[in-house]
Amino acid sequence: MSRPEITYDHELMLSMRLFNNAAMESIEGYFETCSERWLNPGELLLSPEKENNHLYLIVTGRLRVHLAPPVAPPLVTLGPGECAGEMSIVDHKMPSAWVLAAERTHLLVIGHVALLSMINSSHEVAKNLLFILSCRLREGNDMILSSIEISRQFEHFATVDSLTGLHNRRWLDEMFEREITRCQTDNHPLSLAMLDIDNFKVFNDRFGHLAGDRALQTIAKILRQSLRPTDMIARYGGEEFAILFPETEIDAAAAIAERLRAALVARGDEICFKKDTPPVTASLGVAQMRRDDTLKSLISSADEALYRAKSVGKNHVAR
Ligand code: GH3
Ligand code: MG
Ligand code: MG
Repeated sequence: MSRPEITYDHELMLSMRLFNNAAMESIEGYFETCSERWLNPGELLLSPEKENNHLYLIVTGRLRVHLAPPVAPPLVTLGPGECAGEMSIVDHKMPSAWVLAAERTHLLVIGHVALLSMINSSHEVAKNLLFILSCRLREGNDMILSSIEISRQFEHFATVDSLTGLHNRRWLDEMFEREITRCQTDNHPLSLAMLDIDNFKVFNDRFGHLAGDRALQTIAKILRQSLRPTDMIARYGGEEFAILFPETEIDAAAAIAERLRAALVARGDEICFKKDTPPVTASLGVAQMRRDDTLKSLISSADEALYRAKSVGKNHVAR
């Protein structure tokens, strides 16, 4: 594949980023030691498993650079005038990426001794190589930023309920636990309300599951709008929501719970558009944290209160 003593082409060399603005007379002697190489589409040029002693300048064609074995999308695609292999030559380590031909590709191959001689002979070549390396660094940084963004999104979807946009049970388990511990350590009060939509099975049976979903979305919106910024709400499951009131005694928590219940009644038209239907209501049970409460036992106390609210006829707040 390799063929020594390439025909020196002044214009072609100047079109390479590495030789940009370089005085060619100071380096053209080294081209005698360079060779050419042709790659077929998909052919591997560099990999972290194989030592590399050459810099490859792309004459025609394109190379794909992959940071993981080349099944994932490429980090970058390099075209004519660009080069590959420079990092492993500079730091004498294995290549940091998989590089393969995206199409039939014609390369000019410079051995590492010739490259070092060119760097010694031409400041421009040295500067261009620095420029090329800083581009690689920037590509790496961009990739780090986008993977941070992707993991943020994963985290978001892992803790947010897709129907209502409220936090989910997983988030609740972690964040409520944390608040409980904080208030216990600081000896501050904390209260919890469990809210359950009344007769929601009947609502679904009557208006359909989609209308039920829309109702849950609207209810979640109304609840969020009616809470203080420090209150924490999550969808506990199905048609149940849990609301944590840090730094709050039970009287204040029960008053907020009553405000939530009343807000749902007042905005019943938004929850169900159908005329002449009984409003969608909710029942709430409120409990204040005791000294030795865990998240589980606190939820249990609020659930018992919720049961009492249901037994006195629903659309009610009990403690
Ligand atoms: P109660 O007043 O005693 O709470 O009666 P209920 O009908 O609300 O309670 P039950 O536990 O019998 O039924 C809960 C209903 O909530 C049944 C279920 O289909 C509905 N539900 C739970 N999650 C969803 C959801 O995501 N979307 C819809 N549309 N319905 C849901
Ligand atoms: Mg329920
Ligand atoms: Mg219910």
